[in-house]
Amino acid sequence: MSRYGCKCCGEGTASMKLRFIIQKLKDRLPSECEIINHSCFRCELNNINSGGEDDSQHLQGNALDFHVTNLYYLDLYFVLLEIGEICGIGVYTYSTSDKWFIHIDCEGRSGRRWMQIDEEYVDFTLERTL
Ligand SMILES: [Zn+2]
Ligand SMILES: [Zn+2]
Repeated sequence: MSRYGCKCCGEGTASMKLRFIIQKLKDRLPSECEIINHSCFRCELNNINSGGEDDSQHLQGNALDFHVTNLYYLDLYFVLLEIGEICGIGVYTYSTSDKWFIHIDCEGRSGRRWMQIDEEYVDFTLERTL
């Protein structure tokens, strides 16, 4: 079973594009920082149970939810901004704990940025002039 397979059934894995991005991220992180995978590929059932959108990129292995040890989430966010192939970046934090994770995806609309604190969702996607 792939380390990026579905957490409930082991199905699937990360897409080549996502693996490429994960490698780029690893190359940029200090050696004491470890990527901890929360959720990558999701089967349909897992996606529903996880509250994912119907067209979630997790269904194709094009999205990763993760945190990085020994790193503040905003520092990770700025590292991710430097990796051009990432389309969406969402930061999830909680008022009641210091746990956090970041969602990245690599298909569809680029420049999507959001932050969620508990249930509070803030979209700060950059508007682009076409
Ligand atoms: Zn599953
Ligand atoms: Zn996600």
